[in-house]
Amino acid sequence: MTLLTFRFAPSPNGELHLGHAYSALLNQKLARATGGRLLLRIEDIDTTRCTPEFEAGIFRDLRWLGLGWEEPVRRQSEHFADYQAVLDRLIREELVYPAFMSRGEIRAFIADREKRGRDWPRDPDGVPLYPAVDKALPMRERQRRIAENAHFAWRLDVNAAMARVGKNLAWMEFSDEMLSATHAVDARPQDWGDVIVARREIPTSYHLAVVVDDALQGVSHVVRGQDLYSATGVQRLLQEILGLPQPSYFHHRLVLGPDGRKLSKSFADTGLAALREAGASPADVRRLIGI
Ligand code: GLU
Repeated sequence: MTLLTFRFAPSPNGELHLGHAYSALLNQKLARATGGRLLLRIEDIDTTRCTPEFEAGIFRDLRWLGLGWEEPVRRQSEHFADYQAVLDRLIREELVYPAFMSRGEIRAFIADREKRGRDWPRDPDGVPLYPAVDKALPMRERQRRIAENAHFAWRLDVNAAMARVGKNLAWMEFSDEMLSATHAVDARPQDWGDVIVARREIPTSYHLAVVVDDALQGVSHVVRGQDLYSATGVQRLLQEILGLPQPSYFHHRLVLGPDGRKLSKSFADTGLAALREAGASPADVRRLIGI
């Protein structure tokens, strides 16, 4: 029998808070209960927002909590060549295109459409979908702009990708924290429009790096917060067009702040380091989050 493989995959762009503690400890609990493996992955592709100090804080907090993981830890910023190879394939297969519109241009384009009485579609996070006008740019024009050093991002042509797959997509979601049963969830990647899969300077995006790494690391069970539930549709589509295996998913409840809102990395009083400095123990943290 193959071992189940879980992972905790924080981004070092802020301090860990109670929500991260819940996710990390739930992964640990499930790995232990099933005799599986637990991996730690540092998701630091955003080289402007991620810092070595935040990364050191992650290790400090996780060790303090009593988390153990298999070495080596995969640090995404050390694997840009892996992502570049996958991106090159998507470019060759014409499943991505260079999108040149700046944020201001996107805003103006959408405002203009809406002025004419047309509601512009939004993604599940409420962000307007990218107006896919660049898709029609002739190849020579694309090449000219890239050669002139224009700013652009590689976006997935979601319609082309869906057509390539040629069937409805679903993922297997566990129904409860004990992973006792699964149900199929419709993947709706088109709800996100043409998402960014890489940038001019960075050959990947969150979605691309996650699916490449989950496959490379043999992750069988993705256990992460409910906030990533609908993004899973995009990741299923990428897995399918790249021929990668699909893990099963469990999107766990979010730990909410005293005001009932989702915790953020700037929420100092639920930060693990702040709690530790205020005298809390790992057992206190477990009690606070109910694990
Ligand atoms: N790095 C992501 C985050 O910190 C989590 C990615 C995932 O679990 O798929 O929100």
